[in-house]
Amino acid sequence: MEEMKCPTCGCQSFYVKDPSDEHEIYVFTCPEGEVCFEAEISVAEAPQVEDDTETYCNNCSWHDSFKKVKIDFK
Ligand SMILES: [Zn+2]
Repeated sequence: MEEMKCPTCGCQSFYVKDPSDEHEIYVFTCPEGEVCFEAEISVAEAPQVEDDTETYCNNCSWHDSFKKVKIDFK
């Protein structure tokens, strides 16, 4: 099973920025390789996370495209 972790610190919590407002962030985890947004984020407002979506670690300064997290921890 895929387990997604930050390549730098091992944190399993990430966030993406709103494409139209970079002060708006959406925190998610990937318990089974599936993007799982926090409960208070409704499906309607959650942004689409694609392979090339810039993804940020919630714990350290690491960020890269979403597919890098998946590739590093397959
Ligand atoms: Zn990290």
